[in-house]
Amino acid sequence: MLNNTRASSSIALTATKYIAKILTSFPIQGAPMLQLRPNCECCNTNLPNESTEARICTFECTFCSGCADQKLGGVCPNCGGELVVRPRRPAGKLAQFPASTDRVLKPEGCSAKA
Ligand SMILES: [Zn+2]
Ligand SMILES: [Zn+2]
Repeated sequence: MLNNTRASSSIALTATKYIAKILTSFPIQGAPMLQLRPNCECCNTNLPNESTEARICTFECTFCSGCADQKLGGVCPNCGGELVVRPRRPAGKLAQFPASTDRVLKPEGCSAKA
């Protein structure tokens, strides 16, 4: 009984060390991250990283809250996925992991698909 307890706690410790090793072998630089696109695809409104108005789908199609809520009803016109609030990257991380500067804009706008 006592031996079992000791054995399982040493397994847990080994697992913790193993996970720590995996984490350190994948530095954050190699991890996928949001592009943080700079504008709304519909109306070209600027959506800087610190904006609370940015909405994205899983493919990171990016829209302002006005277009997302009023024109699109919270659904991405490109992929049909839901649009959610884009998280903001902490300012301290932006220098190391800058936001995208590639503006993506739908030439026909977003009101067409209603
Ligand atoms: Zn917009
Ligand atoms: Zn989409």
